Amino acid sequence: MIEEEYAILLELQKFDIDIDEEEKKKRSLPLMIEGIAKEIQELKDSLRNKNENYKNLQIKLKRKELDLAEKSNKIDKHQEDLYGGKISDIKELRQIQKVIANYKEEKDSIEEDVLDLMEEMEDLDKSIGHLDEDLKVKEKEFKKRKEEIDLTRSVIKKSMDSLNIKREEIFSKITDDRLLKEYELLRKEKGGKAIMEVDGSVCPGCYLDLPSDAIYQLEKNRKIIICPNCSRILIWKN
Ligand SMILES: [Zn+2]
Repeated sequence: MIEEEYAILLELQKFDIDIDEEEKKKRSLPLMIEGIAKEIQELKDSLRNKNENYKNLQIKLKRKELDLAEKSNKIDKHQEDLYGGKISDIKELRQIQKVIANYKEEKDSIEEDVLDLMEEMEDLDKSIGHLDEDLKVKEKEFKKRKEEIDLTRSVIKKSMDSLNIKREEIFSKITDDRLLKEYELLRKEKGGKAIMEVDGSVCPGCYLDLPSDAIYQLEKNRKIIICPNCSRILIWKN
């Protein structure tokens, strides 16, 4: 009987909707870690930049230290000349004093640079430490969420498997191929419900007030009608 066929179709649709729902859940799973994965990537980028920066500062510091040693050597050498007693010319001695004073000034300036560099490195080191900690926390959270997702995915799979088995059972009862094709086409078009039960004067699919003769047909004769507005298959609710 034709009505029975539609009732089966309605049953099939229940499973199709549930299966769609599970598919949707499955598709949304990667979104659960998308945000945190991005945060981790940003932390890693930032860490890489800061570590590189730190290395550059280390090189800069080494250079400053070499500079400093060189200035000290030069000062020592000139002081030897100054106090060694080898030079007696007063003008020459004044000249050497001036050179030493210059070197000392340069040395002071380099020492200041060294202190600044060391301070900068200390701050950077702290910042790297914090980022490292943040990264560890985020990676732990990521791992936890990934496990949750894997668990949810297996739950969804089980649910889908059982839904598909039940769907197959119902599907095999449908003998009208043309009706089935129409149903599937309509479901694709409507994105969900192709066949709906009516118990009032309104199409539950598009909320159109159905013509009274259509309602009469539905209610009294349990006929199946097509909604004149949205083309969904409507059957009267028992
Ligand atoms: Zn409608």
